[in-house]
Amino acid sequence: MLFGNLFKKGLQRSRETWFGKVKGLFDRQIIDENVWTELEEILIAADVGINTTERLIARVKRRVLDEKLKDSESVRSALKDEMVRILTIETPPVEVSTLPKVTLVIGVNGGGKTTSIGKLAATLKSEGKSILLVAADTFRAAAIDQLKRWGERVGVEVIAHQPGADPGAVVYDALQAAKSRQVQEVIIDTAGRLHTKFNLMEELKKVKRVITKIDPAAPHEVMLVIDATTGQNGLAQAKYFTEAVGVTGIFLAKLDGTAKGGIVLAICDELKIPVKYAGVGEKLEDMAKFDAGAFIEALFS
Ligand code: GDP
Ligand code: MG
Repeated sequence: MLFGNLFKKGLQRSRETWFGKVKGLFDRQIIDENVWTELEEILIAADVGINTTERLIARVKRRVLDEKLKDSESVRSALKDEMVRILTIETPPVEVSTLPKVTLVIGVNGGGKTTSIGKLAATLKSEGKSILLVAADTFRAAAIDQLKRWGERVGVEVIAHQPGADPGAVVYDALQAAKSRQVQEVIIDTAGRLHTKFNLMEELKKVKRVITKIDPAAPHEVMLVIDATTGQNGLAQAKYFTEAVGVTGIFLAKLDGTAKGGIVLAICDELKIPVKYAGVGEKLEDMAKFDAGAFIEALFS
């Protein structure tokens, strides 16, 4: 499916509720103060967040003045432009001088990490890449089995140890194996919640240290999986993970499960971390590489 169509599918609920209302607002002939007030209410309800909503509206109002925008169509298109601007975060391309490229996937339990890894692996495989998946969520046997099932479905190998094993040791073994076999992509699944005597952030830092010891340039990507249905809470999680281990990109899972797709704007605006992928369903193919323009078009179309 084309990105645009994937986003249309993923954003159906958002489009039919909150953003449909935004579209309706600009069907009015006159853009007065009421329109701005209603727009503010709708955006906040759609999880854009208060700060981002205020900044966004201020910018659009400024453009209405500066560019002497009169008709509602040009005001709406200025709003869309400004949204695309928020979503467009330029980051330097990921340089991989020595293979493999290592992607560390983190996030809270149930957020969609393992499923999203399955989707990423399927995409990379279709691009002809060699891939190794690593089961570093060793705290639950079910988590290891789940990754193995995705590995079988996609047709890629999964490196795993016994449940309860040290996640750092699994990662170490997997990276050695990947190096000796010249695998191109390693994707590491991690725990989202640990037994009370362990601290999740300390564990993730440790896993990261193991990776860096093997390749100082790795991990090349630290991908935070956020469940779009958790709204502003997802934003708080992102801040927490970013402070602890650094995040280079976001995989926004379950966009299809929420009417509040505006959370994407809040994440990009507040954290300045690019959303790289969106999950739009439970199947392997339900993933879209994030594209700001296509996303905003799908939200309003
Ligand atoms: P993890 O604990 O972070 O590894 O999360 P899982 O990958 O196990 O996913 C938790 C649940 O969310 C599972 O039931 C998945 O099928 C579901 N899920 C993951 N991604 C998506 C998505 O993009 N859309 C929908 N609707 N469900 C998803
Ligand atoms: Mg998992």
